[in-house]
Amino acid sequence: MDLQLDRAISEVLSRKAKLVGLQMPEGLKTKARDFANGLEVATGCQVIILGDPCYGACDLRSLKGLDLLVHVGHAPIPDLRPSIPTVFLEVRMDFDPVDALSMNMDKIKANVGLVATAQHVHLLPSVQSALGSAGRTALVGNGDSRIALPGQVLGCNITSALSVMKEVEQYIFLGSGYFHPLAVSLGTGLPVLCIDPYRGAVDDISEAREKVIRQRYAAMAKALDAKDWLVLLCDKPGQRRYELAVRCRDVLRNKGMRADIVQLNEVRAEALLPYRAEAAVSTACPRLAIDDGPHYPIPLLTPWEMEMVLGLRDMDEYRFDQILSGETPD
Ligand code: SF4
Repeated sequence: MDLQLDRAISEVLSRKAKLVGLQMPEGLKTKARDFANGLEVATGCQVIILGDPCYGACDLRSLKGLDLLVHVGHAPIPDLRPSIPTVFLEVRMDFDPVDALSMNMDKIKANVGLVATAQHVHLLPSVQSALGSAGRTALVGNGDSRIALPGQVLGCNITSALSVMKEVEQYIFLGSGYFHPLAVSLGTGLPVLCIDPYRGAVDDISEAREKVIRQRYAAMAKALDAKDWLVLLCDKPGQRRYELAVRCRDVLRNKGMRADIVQLNEVRAEALLPYRAEAAVSTACPRLAIDDGPHYPIPLLTPWEMEMVLGLRDMDEYRFDQILSGETPD
């Protein structure tokens, strides 16, 4: 795995940066000290490892006096303007998806959309051409301005998948884990075949989708009688949907509920306890409600789900919450 230390060295030297912040996601943090030492030895700069959890490019940290932030492991979110100079070092993971595709061609429909995380998006052209040779039409869509690369999806933004949705009957996701393909499945309702570099092809994402949908309706059912709500606002730059938080609070108050906005950096179940609310709506990362919500002591809903509970949306029209272009202005 190439963390692009050479590129970090040349960026530090060319910008004459003296104090450098290093941010890495949890999965790469074991490599942070070697990376930092390599950077310091090669450039003479001082590196501070920013050790708080980092789940995406939505979560850029700053530090007083920093000349440069080196963010490893995520592609930039283009519509997010960092408050300090930042260099993004994407980590590309290589594997040969063509063999896995060939072994599973019977599961691949005639018209498919291709999606991947930033780590694997460079493999999509070879998949597209292999599928073309096998008589399939494979499309790679472009996302909105929160998406840096064609075919890339985030856990909170599947606009690249949606851009080709009318022309496809299935998606193929390159990468590991269910986090991203679940977003595609929830947001499009179409089947997703996951080509996982470690486990081979996995196509039971629809089961995971059904489980999540059941959990979401259970959370909404619990919130039906709630009269006292919290509206959660996250202060991470790429998650801070302030206008949406104000709108949620106003909608709740107009419906006669008690509702207050609580701003947090890390949204955690324990942080909500002192407020003794009966339900909460999260305008932070949409995956907090979906992935962590079942472990909260009170129902934690997305804004769309809150509107369903309040009778402002049809209960049959479930919609996956996304953070879209322009929703997190500076
Ligand atoms: S908001 Fe959530 S899903 Fe979106 S990039 Fe950040 S951590 Fe990932």
